[in-house]
Amino acid sequence: VKPGCITDNHFHLDPEAGLGVEAAKRFERAGGTCLILVHKPVAGAPEALRSERGFQEAFERTLRLKKRVESETRLCVNAVIGVHPAELVQLSRRMGVNQALELCMHALDLAGRLVEEGSAIAIGEIGRPHFTVEKKLLQACNKLLEHGMAVAGDVGCALQVHAEACSEALCRELSRMAKRAGLREKKVVKHFCSSGMDVERRHGITLSILARGDAIKESLKVDKSFLMESDYMDDLSRPGAVLGPKAVPRVTRRLVEGGWLSLDEAERIHRDNVESLYGLELP
Ligand SMILES: [Zn+2]
Repeated sequence: VKPGCITDNHFHLDPEAGLGVEAAKRFERAGGTCLILVHKPVAGAPEALRSERGFQEAFERTLRLKKRVESETRLCVNAVIGVHPAELVQLSRRMGVNQALELCMHALDLAGRLVEEGSAIAIGEIGRPHFTVEKKLLQACNKLLEHGMAVAGDVGCALQVHAEACSEALCRELSRMAKRAGLREKKVVKHFCSSGMDVERRHGITLSILARGDAIKESLKVDKSFLMESDYMDDLSRPGAVLGPKAVPRVTRRLVEGGWLSLDEAERIHRDNVESLYGLELP
């Protein structure tokens, strides 16, 4: 008996630095059925991103990649687009914080319009760097995150957050920001979590947990409202930096076969939680 639906909630593709569509095929061959394809930040935020047009072209590349995966596999693919905090940091160093923030806010408005017209399902990944930056930059990142939350609130979509390691304090802060911005806490997903937390400790924020056997086993004991992800980067110059493209289906099947995860629980994590977060209907 195999799980029917297996979703990776955070997966990047990079045809230049990595395997491109082949990585999605590997996910599919391992048993995956649904990919949440997250826009990959432009490395080094080069010249091309110095204008709104540059962001638009970068978003369009991700949307074309989604279509290519759809045409070359049987996967259900949904795109998530946004401005990575590393892009804001790099642009700030080139053009100054204020100008960079303004540009990135416009780029998020554009991302919101692409969600509205149905090209993407959510905003992400946005937030703040997981490394330490100057106070002024951190403030700019928070402003951009709040703006992204307001855009998601207007459009009525979910938002994937990139930030420091997940904790109760971080969830409390994200939940307050979301309320101020008019976005339901549940629609805010903290990506790259290493363990689950009960609903009170996560303040209603949705957690996307890395597909590692022990982390998922522990999370199941606490709360079953989470999603699973690999954070696959598709960058061949950084092998082993993250989980591979097969991580989510492999771990899921291993846990089902070992009796750690029931088929009902698998269906909840890979289908029900994904559908209710994004307002989707999965095949
Ligand atoms: Zn990512």
